Amino acid sequence: SGTRVPLIAGNWKMNMDHVQGITLLQKLAWTLDDAKHDYRRVEVAVFPPFTDLRGVQTLVHGDDLSIAYGGQDLSDQDSGAYTGDISGQFLAKLGCTYVLVGHSERRTIHGETDEQLSAKLKAAFRHDLVPVLCVGEGLEVRRAGTHVEHTLGQLRADLEGLPEDQVRQLVVAYEPVWAIGTGEVAGPDDAQEMSAAIRAELAGRYGDDVAGAVRVLYGGSVKAANAAAIIGQPDVDGVLVGGASLDAGEFANIVRFES
Ligand code: PEP
Repeated sequence: SGTRVPLIAGNWKMNMDHVQGITLLQKLAWTLDDAKHDYRRVEVAVFPPFTDLRGVQTLVHGDDLSIAYGGQDLSDQDSGAYTGDISGQFLAKLGCTYVLVGHSERRTIHGETDEQLSAKLKAAFRHDLVPVLCVGEGLEVRRAGTHVEHTLGQLRADLEGLPEDQVRQLVVAYEPVWAIGTGEVAGPDDAQEMSAAIRAELAGRYGDDVAGAVRVLYGGSVKAANAAAIIGQPDVDGVLVGGASLDAGEFANIVRFES
């Protein structure tokens, strides 16, 4: 992954209320410190439910933890009559570094379109949040063999109108939908194939310098047992972990993938 610092990110999804979330984060911090491993060579981030973020902020800053955090979604608007939505402004004020944009569960369950996601990316940058843009194909597309074209199509549409200096800060997570929460993991070769294709697409549009700066993560049934082989791929700069991020010990072992 060259000079790119690997990012190990945990997406808690709609799990862990604000009490459980604090317990999980405390356990994770203890486990990482106990191991006397310099996990600061990698970046660690968690994506808790919105209602956990205030508590996470207090714990991270109170205990000076080297753990970043972010929201799982944001509105494309900054404030106003958008009942139930959360502004990037609010996330930034809670100390969020990151925000997930276009997770496949948002695309499928909430019907989020590439046009909306493009607006959400711009909203994130308006508030200095780093978006982790999720892209990836479903099973039908994978079977048809058009997964690279499909995923690059999402990327192109989502990045529409985004200036180069913002694109270079972006994190892209390749998450094949058929591998999310299914126990079915794409092979390291599949992760590398798509990550290289994403980087080549970025290089073609924004130049090698920008493409070399963007971190590309893999997500889909990542566990401690398969993390090292995946992150070891030249164009894979970390992982986005769902299920396994709810277990502090397992997630800590993913963070320590090198050992
Ligand atoms: C995810 O939701 O981003 C994810 C990759 O989930 P899991 O690790 O459970 O497949």
